[in-house]
Amino acid sequence: MKVPLLDLKAQYSSLKDELNAALLNTAETQYFILGPEVQKLEEEISKFLGAKKAIGVSSGTDALLIALMSIDIKPGDEVIVPTYSFFATAGVVSRLNATPVFVDIDPVTFNIDPAKIEEKITDKTKAIIPVHLYGQSADMDPIMEIAEKHDLKVIEDGAQAISVQYKDGRSVGTIGNIGCYSFFPSKNLGCFGDGGMVVTMDEELGEKLRIMRVHGGKPKYYHKMIGGNFRLDAIQAGVLNVKLPHLDSWSEKRRENAALYTKLFIEAGLAQEEGKLEFDDQNKVLLPKPIYKDNDLKNYHIYNQYVIRVDERDQLMAQLRANEIGCEIYYPVSFHKQECFQNLASSKDSYPNADFAADHSLALPIYPELTTEQIEFVVETIKEFLK
Ligand SMILES: *Cc1c(COP(=O)(O)O)cnc(C)c1O
Repeated sequence: MKVPLLDLKAQYSSLKDELNAALLNTAETQYFILGPEVQKLEEEISKFLGAKKAIGVSSGTDALLIALMSIDIKPGDEVIVPTYSFFATAGVVSRLNATPVFVDIDPVTFNIDPAKIEEKITDKTKAIIPVHLYGQSADMDPIMEIAEKHDLKVIEDGAQAISVQYKDGRSVGTIGNIGCYSFFPSKNLGCFGDGGMVVTMDEELGEKLRIMRVHGGKPKYYHKMIGGNFRLDAIQAGVLNVKLPHLDSWSEKRRENAALYTKLFIEAGLAQEEGKLEFDDQNKVLLPKPIYKDNDLKNYHIYNQYVIRVDERDQLMAQLRANEIGCEIYYPVSFHKQECFQNLASSKDSYPNADFAADHSLALPIYPELTTEQIEFVVETIKEFLK
């Protein structure tokens, strides 16, 4: 039985007529740059997330970059990031000739450990970028408290977490100064190429981001500031306007799939409960734990990834792939071990939780259209390998 890590054709076929109509509409109108589809998406996303302003941009990476530019991150400034994330989280900091400063993750949630942030703050620190990894909120209250105390900005990397709620019900991305999202095809809300969004509760900052998206010119050709071409394509906005109303039901299916994995791993005797942190005979698979599950939230987790940890991870990965089961390591190399960051002082610190995650984590197929039989086959194959 084939179980791909992600099957985008399944989602496309369920919305084919509407999506094709949206694509054709762009061809008919020849309206390619910003315009009504982008504006509609921005309005719908602001409403959906409870944000004051939403600005469509060219990718999740560019969302982070324009966010840092808008808060005036300068060469030599320091920006705190978790050491365990997709490269863009730290890469955008370096691209502005600022310095990413790494912090270890919490071993249960894979998100930045707030208790380890303050020791990394210096008089050069300007911002913190918490990442809501795999589709679960970072612990924002202590992060916001630290930011306030030290007068830092908070840019939320919600690339994997659009619509996710923090424990108090607020959408991630609306808690810090700016929230950043990606519409890369493999995210929960994906377009037909690259796309992204920034949101903010600060009207003035929203206006600044909107101007910076078009090179910083307002009126056109008159520049008080320097921005870039950070525009979201109209064709992508058209696709996203078709998909957005389905996001919650897709997330619900992902949660159901995650619950089924968890149940099957426990029934197979491979795990006792979610969130265990050490391997033993009854816990050969360490299961992810949705920590805000009991907070009466709809989107306490949207499972962009369902990530287990196993001891002989690389051998298991080979075994799964030999059985035509897709799986992936997010992420095999933390920032402090990346070659390009070896010159940074914080690369020399120790990050035991990130190291453990990088060595043991394995993402399993979790997309909404998976069948029960496919999930059973994945767990059976893992059981076979581990016994
Ligand atoms: C995908 C991703 C990004 C980058 O988004 P792109 O749209 O691919 O540029 C940034 N941060 C995280 C955590 C991501 O998962």
